[in-house]
Amino acid sequence: MVRKAKAVLCRDLNRPVVVEEIVVDPPKRGEATIKTAACGVCHSDLSATNGTIQMPLPLVLGHEAAGVVVEVGAGVTDLTPGDHVVSSFVHMCGKCRWCATGKPHLCDSAAKTLYTLADGTTPARDGSGRSLNIFSACGVMAAYATLSIENLVKIEQDVPLDRAALVSCGVMTGVGAVFNTAQVEPGAAVMVIGAGGVGLNVIQGAAIAGAHPIVAIDVAEAKLDLAKRFGATHTINAAQEENVVKAAKKLTAGGPDYCFECIGLGKTVEQAFRSLRKGGKAVVVGVTRGEESVSVRPASLTFEEKTLTGSYFGSARPREDFPRLLALYRAGRLKLDELITHRYRVDEAPQAFADLEAGKNARGVIVFE
Ligand SMILES: [Zn+2]
Ligand SMILES: [Zn+2]
Repeated sequence: MVRKAKAVLCRDLNRPVVVEEIVVDPPKRGEATIKTAACGVCHSDLSATNGTIQMPLPLVLGHEAAGVVVEVGAGVTDLTPGDHVVSSFVHMCGKCRWCATGKPHLCDSAAKTLYTLADGTTPARDGSGRSLNIFSACGVMAAYATLSIENLVKIEQDVPLDRAALVSCGVMTGVGAVFNTAQVEPGAAVMVIGAGGVGLNVIQGAAIAGAHPIVAIDVAEAKLDLAKRFGATHTINAAQEENVVKAAKKLTAGGPDYCFECIGLGKTVEQAFRSLRKGGKAVVVGVTRGEESVSVRPASLTFEEKTLTGSYFGSARPREDFPRLLALYRAGRLKLDELITHRYRVDEAPQAFADLEAGKNARGVIVFE
């Protein structure tokens, strides 16, 4: 059936998001409609509203949601109404070389699923009947959303959906960078530059992996306090420390084995690389703007065998990793409750975005009735 849904839209760049009633089409073959319970407000959503991520407007925002399946399209056997699901902003075609080799986060269908479903259509329209694009083939900052089942991961029903939503972007990106991309081993020295939403999850991933010490670096004292709560053993306030690299080397007996850059600046990527001890690995998690560049001394690649690499979406295998993260939460080892610092009604979405931009939340979540 066709459903009406309150949704958060970007209509004009650099303007506050708007809340409107939209129309959501029923699922076609290989699709499902979900009743959204909660959707995290992520930096990528904000980036779409200011042009850092370029998406055609108008756009239904949202890519970090959990909800309940209410209808499935033809040919769908993996999901039935009543199932709890989490959205995946990577579409997993299952057939390309990346999907076939266990790297669905690099799936070749990404280019076709930026703001429509994979077949180029969109299931959402506004009150006047105009088509609405959907963020990352999700558009889940809406009370109902129709997605490809390749963008949905079924989960157990015992985890509250507002918490479950978080694993689908920020938590996966941070914890996955530690578990999947870097494969940090117990006792490794870890440094994390940037203790925002993703950085906090790198820190808690490192703590779960048994790393020690875990050094968090930021310019905001409040974020460094949070970092300690998520497992940082030491902190460096980069606003007060003249030579961050030197300070980091001192705290880690010669430099970290792993350094995660979670800001997305050329300068801090260089700091990450320079800090490393021999054989160390610098992992760029932050999304840099196109004009950023870094310079490294190639001799340290050869003689010190240092590695500079990146991690996209925590090298996620959503169908395996989302349930695994929720199992860690269930066991009391992954902090999700503490990440949600504010819950908003959908009508409060403009405030949620303003708070995100002001750096007020570890994570803000929009909760639907
Ligand atoms: Zn996100
Ligand atoms: Zn694929």
